[in-house]
Amino acid sequence: MAAASEPTTPDPSIAELIARRPHLRLHAMDGLLMEDVPLNHVVDAVGTPTWVYSAGALRARYRALAQALRTAGLDAQIHYAVKANDHLAILALLGREGAGADVVSGGELRRARAACISASQIVYSGVGKTEPELRLALAEDIGQINVESAEELHTLSAIAVSMGRTARVTLRINPDVDAGTHDKISTGRAGDKFGIPWSDAVTLYAEAAALPSIEPIGIATHIGSQIMELAPYRAAFARIAELVRALRDQGHSVRVVDCGGGLGIPYRNDPGPGPDALAGAIKAAFHNLDVRVALEPGRWLVGPAGILLASVILQKQSGGNRFVVLDAAMNDLVRPAMYDAWHGIVPIAAAAAVAPVSHCDIVGPVCETGDTFARERLLPSLNAGAVVAILDAGAYGAVMSSPYNARPRAAEVLVDGAALTVIRPRQTLEALWAGEVIPP
Ligand code: PLP
Repeated sequence: MAAASEPTTPDPSIAELIARRPHLRLHAMDGLLMEDVPLNHVVDAVGTPTWVYSAGALRARYRALAQALRTAGLDAQIHYAVKANDHLAILALLGREGAGADVVSGGELRRARAACISASQIVYSGVGKTEPELRLALAEDIGQINVESAEELHTLSAIAVSMGRTARVTLRINPDVDAGTHDKISTGRAGDKFGIPWSDAVTLYAEAAALPSIEPIGIATHIGSQIMELAPYRAAFARIAELVRALRDQGHSVRVVDCGGGLGIPYRNDPGPGPDALAGAIKAAFHNLDVRVALEPGRWLVGPAGILLASVILQKQSGGNRFVVLDAAMNDLVRPAMYDAWHGIVPIAAAAAVAPVSHCDIVGPVCETGDTFARERLLPSLNAGAVVAILDAGAYGAVMSSPYNARPRAAEVLVDGAALTVIRPRQTLEALWAGEVIPP
């Protein structure tokens, strides 16, 4: 299928990219600012490559989503999808706003708890939870476990019995809906590995209700990520609503509908559905069913709030192309290499942001052709030492980075108003091989 990031409109200009991100602004002297912090101060403090997140943007986005759900009259709880960015500072900030967490591993569960998110506000998704992970979830008495198969249901029941605990479960249903997003982040089609087939749901719910130490509380679904159309959501929610009615007709209690995550963000300034439209679609499907709604958004909350700062190592001409080689690479931000993702890239110096532009390819120094952040991008001449911001890198950025090519993890900074906090120092080279053992 076509990559979701394939251009459909002309690239937005540098000015348009900055104008649509309220936490960023260009100052004639200081260059690009995030909130009240000139980004060159971040570079002076910690160097590059560095991830920078806006606390103000995170709060504003959480509040906008919560407000949209309230305005739609929904009884809803937001469980932030930890996988999008699992830094404790981000989790704690969203937790203080009222977010619970959606986790997909024991590690994420422990992270959410370490960030003081209450266990009752944690939901646990994932196609392959191990026995120790299920034990941890039960020991912590988390709010909800989204079961993805009959096999998992039976294992969970046995573990819960052995521990003298009750597991509150939803069944994660695969509604067989194509989310219209990139193939690698579509999760709700019949051939995808996720969830329980829609047609098996009623039988398995009845089975769950009869199993010891299992309390079925509802239905969950998650059809994919970076969803830019409402239609797939509507189709999936309609199937889930039908299921809720069928289950109730058979005398089952269904209190919760977990609508998953997936709300897309406008990487290219393209219009997306946004929280009001999503809330409207949820309301249309479930308003007369008297259910509590759970939501598992990741990208929409944190993606636009983060950038990756990178310095230009050199600019070179080759094969008629201008290449701008950065000190950030695919090991830092893998999305362009992995999903053909498009990220806005803007220089942070005031003069460069308004200088004449021409086409160039923006690449990293890793020995793979896939280590390319952008092709044929209109940018000014960027000499060695110039710094660029790769936009909308707050989700599936730092969390997916690797030490490939023996490159340490980049530093991370949180900006809040005029305050700048280094929330993770740059990894040292020695840390890369700490723990490795050479046999005698
Ligand atoms: N919930 C589940 C079960 C997921 O697998 C994911 C990620 O794909 C999410 C929520 C978060 O998705 P997104 O970051 O697109 O909102």
